[in-house]
Amino acid sequence: MNVQTNIPLSTLTTMKIGGNANYVVDVTTREELRQAYQNAKKLGQQVYIIGSGSNTIAHDEGFNGVIVHNKIPGIKAIVDDHESTTLQAGGGEIWDDLVKYSVDLNLSGIEAMSGIPGTVGAAPVQNIGAYGQELANTFISLDAYDTQTDAFVTLSWEDCSFSYRHSIFRGNAQGRYAITTITLKLYKKLPEPPFYESLQKRFDELHITAFTPQTIRENVLAIRADKLPDPTKWPNAGSFFKNAIVESWQVESIRQSNSDVLAFDQGNGKFKIPAGWLIEASDLKGEVLHGMKVHDKNAVVLINESATSYADLAAAREQIITTVRDNFQIVLEQEPLELDQPVS
Ligand SMILES: Cc1cc2nc3c(=O)[nH]c(=O)nc-3n(C[C@H](O)[C@H](O)[C@H](O)COP(=O)(O)OP(=O)(O)OC[C@H]3O[C@@H](n4cnc5c(N)ncnc54)[C@H](O)[C@@H]3O)c2cc1C
Repeated sequence: MNVQTNIPLSTLTTMKIGGNANYVVDVTTREELRQAYQNAKKLGQQVYIIGSGSNTIAHDEGFNGVIVHNKIPGIKAIVDDHESTTLQAGGGEIWDDLVKYSVDLNLSGIEAMSGIPGTVGAAPVQNIGAYGQELANTFISLDAYDTQTDAFVTLSWEDCSFSYRHSIFRGNAQGRYAITTITLKLYKKLPEPPFYESLQKRFDELHITAFTPQTIRENVLAIRADKLPDPTKWPNAGSFFKNAIVESWQVESIRQSNSDVLAFDQGNGKFKIPAGWLIEASDLKGEVLHGMKVHDKNAVVLINESATSYADLAAAREQIITTVRDNFQIVLEQEPLELDQPVS
């Protein structure tokens, strides 16, 4: 178990902002993870678990506690039958390595989630998703250390209460469980249309009509490379705001002044308006606000161009939320989690 002291959170998060954490402990086994939590408790220190830090915003004050850096490895097939293979992966594995592993086995189920940054252990937290797939679709169960009872537990699909970019791990149980492995059931059947609109558009343009997990992966990676800034070169946390879920009358009201409003029927009387559309329609695309650039290819992404503090980021966020609210009477919500609260 590797323990370091006074580590800048800017080096552990892809937004590259944040003061020091008292301790950072790298854990590579379940037992090390448990020990890290127990040691922190003895020292009266709070704990926050982190993976790649690609969905975490740190504060200038840093973290007065222990950051547990999950590096638990391992990917293996645990069940295999004529139609499916069940894979189990350690929480510290890189998510995209798991996707590549499954695609190399010609398995279908997570290939459209190629290229999502971060670790396997963080994937259930916001029920990651992209290009028409989400984790919940293939998820069977996960193993976790329960910080309340000091025991290892297995949580089923039902236990996790997945919904759009949400689960118990962002809700009632935030900070309670440290996820050590996840188990997914993937299928041998080839992927079939209909595909997500922008993916299908690319297939049509390139005259691709035979679909394998590999074709999906390659094309998703190509679309992502064009739309999403590589966080190792351009510090960012992916989509900074959640898409807005609104009532039909709100869509109609916006349509009166913006006939091109993008609104997707959710089938329950509600509509989803992409946060990127709201920001772009507020003329903020490409703007640099307090050192944060509204990405000129995808306005929902904020790139840390020259911001040096959380205060800069907060000022940029405020300006965007206020402008969108003044224009459309919709209040945008932040997607990445904040490393500000004691969580266990
Ligand atoms: C360029 C870019 C593109 C992105 N695209 C997408 C996308 O297409 N779809 C999508 O859904 N997301 C996307 N994201 C967001 C991000 O990739 C995901 O949220 C990812 O799951 C975060 O993984 P992480 O390891 O970096 O999490 P971290 O930022 O390290 O942690 C995120 C949260 O999960 C908790 N956590 C981490 N590990 C564990 C664990 N083992 N047990 C319990 N809790 C844990 C943390 O405490 C924190 O609250 C993108 C981000 C970037 C930077």
